[in-house]
Amino acid sequence: RESITLHGMRIDRVTMEGTLECVASYIASGRPHHIVTADASMVMTYREDKEFAAIVDQAALITSDGAGVLWACKRLNLPVPPKVSGVDLSAMLVELSGKKGWRVFFFGGAPGVAEAAAQKMRERFPDANICGFRDGYYKPDEENTVAEQIAATKPDILLVAMGIPRQEKFILRQKERVGAKVYIGVGGTLDVFSG
Ligand code: UDP
Repeated sequence: RESITLHGMRIDRVTMEGTLECVASYIASGRPHHIVTADASMVMTYREDKEFAAIVDQAALITSDGAGVLWACKRLNLPVPPKVSGVDLSAMLVELSGKKGWRVFFFGGAPGVAEAAAQKMRERFPDANICGFRDGYYKPDEENTVAEQIAATKPDILLVAMGIPRQEKFILRQKERVGAKVYIGVGGTLDVFSG
């Protein structure tokens, strides 16, 4: 796959269509895969946080979230990767989830946000296959229990909306326990969906 490197961080030149094909193959594989939608703040964190950088380097797919990356590419004379933002990708996955039989779990945000997001998305896409939701606030020693509760809903796709780098570190620690096939850190996406 073609990619560019922005301040050391790989960004794949993949379209929304290509990303959705990857999602389908990841789910068919039965193994966990991490998709990163890279924005400018992520590139900053990549430079400052070695643990975060190692997680991103292992991601199955890294898309460009949009404006900040586009601007940086133009400035550095790099080819601009197609925009596949966390909000757009998450909405597409929910829209397709009914038809494809993909089980999507909404995880993160303040209490009530993930639930409101699920309700709004079910209104928008009546056949949406949202298998569960929960907020992103709990004590560190509750993390394994939270992961087990999510696992019990048998998600194929876990959207983790807890901010950078918390969401990526959760994905690294818990992907085997949760048992989903696609993990995406989606930042403020559930806040957007709930509004
Ligand atoms: N968040 C969370 N748990 C936490 C801290 C933050 O679920 O312990 C949520 C927060 O409610 C918000 C989302 O993470 O919905 C994104 O947070 P923030 O804006 O800080 O991160 P960014 O979007 O800049 O990555």
